Amino acid sequence: MRLTVLGSGSKGNAFAVECDGAVLLIDAGFSAKEVERRLELAGVDSSTIVGIAITHEHGDHASGATRLASRHDVPIISSLGTWRALIASGERCDFLPVGTASTASVGPFTVSACPTSHDAAEPIAIGVTTASGISLGAAYDLGRPTQAIRWFLRNRHCLILEANHDEALLRTSGYPAVVQQRIAGPGGHLSNFDAARLLGELHHDGLGTVVLAHLSLRCNSPEAARETIAAALAECQFRGELILALQDRPMDAITIKGPLQQSLFA
Ligand SMILES: [Zn+2]
Ligand SMILES: [Zn+2]
Repeated sequence: MRLTVLGSGSKGNAFAVECDGAVLLIDAGFSAKEVERRLELAGVDSSTIVGIAITHEHGDHASGATRLASRHDVPIISSLGTWRALIASGERCDFLPVGTASTASVGPFTVSACPTSHDAAEPIAIGVTTASGISLGAAYDLGRPTQAIRWFLRNRHCLILEANHDEALLRTSGYPAVVQQRIAGPGGHLSNFDAARLLGELHHDGLGTVVLAHLSLRCNSPEAARETIAAALAECQFRGELILALQDRPMDAITIKGPLQQSLFA
């Protein structure tokens, strides 16, 4: 499995997961044209997209979703509530529902979902597994990590996790108190500290890749996020890769190793 961060942050989020010549997008929070431009820059063939999994309908996660799905004739994979919110203003396209009790299969990917605490219609965290047993979890725009989220993200080989804000930088950001409360509250976003604590709980020997996502431009810095989270991961003897997602351009593809490759290369 290969993961390409196409971009992540408050201006847009999109990730491409590749396996056996097929591509699954997780979120499409840029215009359809911009997602395609970033895929091309990253060397990912957009004609191989088999589905677009959407966490929730906010523009920074879904602005290009229905247009891309309709243009490439692939389904949107999301909760029913997100789908309804998307088609209220979007283009016609196919839909594959995914929920707590049901998964969706597209190409080599099985997509699963877990509800998140966030101020959207029916937001979810997304899990992706392949036939070879490689497993990735993507969770951002998490107001707070619930027990269900902890359960859902356990034993993944790759975690894309939100590290939205540094608590001190949020307090000095100049945002009005009500906005600060929304960002830090149960319907908002995880801080670096929250992400560090959650990763400490989720760490296991098979966790090879952690991608920190959705960093706030105004209330966080890559240095603050890395420092807080690397310290927590070092405490659990994490030996994998810690990657900070960029907002403005796609990054080099990351190879996600499953249980077999990890034991071969150990
Ligand atoms: Zn959101
Ligand atoms: Zn967001």
